[in-house]
Amino acid sequence: PAPDPTAAKRVLVAAPRGYCAGVDRAVVTVERALETYGAPIYVRKQIVHNRHVVETLEQRGAIFVDELDQVPAGATVVFSAHGVAPSVHAEAKERTLKTIDATCPLVTKVHHEARRFAREGLEIVLIGHGGHEEVEGTTGEAPEHITLVQNPGEVDGLEVKDPSRVAWLSQTTLSVDETMETVGKLRQKFPQLIDPPSDDICYATQNRQLAIKQIAGHSDLVIVVGSANSSNSVRLVEVALEAGAKAAYRVDNAGEIDDAWLDGVSTVGVTSGASVPDDLVQGVLDHLRSHGFPQATEERLTEESLTFALPPELRRDLRKGA
Ligand code: SF4
Repeated sequence: PAPDPTAAKRVLVAAPRGYCAGVDRAVVTVERALETYGAPIYVRKQIVHNRHVVETLEQRGAIFVDELDQVPAGATVVFSAHGVAPSVHAEAKERTLKTIDATCPLVTKVHHEARRFAREGLEIVLIGHGGHEEVEGTTGEAPEHITLVQNPGEVDGLEVKDPSRVAWLSQTTLSVDETMETVGKLRQKFPQLIDPPSDDICYATQNRQLAIKQIAGHSDLVIVVGSANSSNSVRLVEVALEAGAKAAYRVDNAGEIDDAWLDGVSTVGVTSGASVPDDLVQGVLDHLRSHGFPQATEERLTEESLTFALPPELRRDLRKGA
């Protein structure tokens, strides 16, 4: 019989991957708001950091804006999963906009921690990426108390008023290993450093990183599906490379795969960020099949069962049949 050209090749797809509970809730919030109140529904910032999700909701009547002054008086506006600073809530109230807050409850938890540490008079080191919406929202809770540190290298130059009164918090979508390195350096510098009461890096970020680590070490190529502004997707590329993948790339969809990446490759690992619908991953798997790779095998690290209730202001109107 003719040799099977796919025999030496394999595709391993990581699980968990894709949608987390916070993204699912945020996307369903916009969908239900469109059904309940009718188009247009305004959304401040991208509801989740995925181009396809945003375009699909746009086609259904969502209008994405950067700031509230782009929302007409009397309109309904949804706040994205990444959270907003209290000043944004205040501005919406002042303008009497109807708001629906789709902030992920795990981001809200970090906001609570920031407020509590600030009330206790602590200086807070927030580990995260400057300019990211989540960092802007969390910082807005206690701007006088919070200093941003973006990587372990920034700890050396950090100055605080009282080294015995420092706490740390983090963005929810960072690399677990790099964050622990930053925390280690902080603790060397401030031995009395106070930890958050529980992990700020969320379960979904941690699970997706652990799942790709299992595969990356024996992959010649890792493909991460996710948008360029998706923090957790970009981190998955870094984690895959650190865990031993020979090469790793991020794509928004199968159309962005450069077929030269597949030259001489026998094992391909595939995963996706927390804001990515699974049909985009299936598109990548189809593309690989049409390029001589066999059906993918899923390598599951753990099951996820967390779900979040929709925002209470929306649930109220859904009950009323508004
Ligand atoms: Fe929430 Fe984590 Fe998903 Fe962000 S990645 S929306 S923090 S569950």
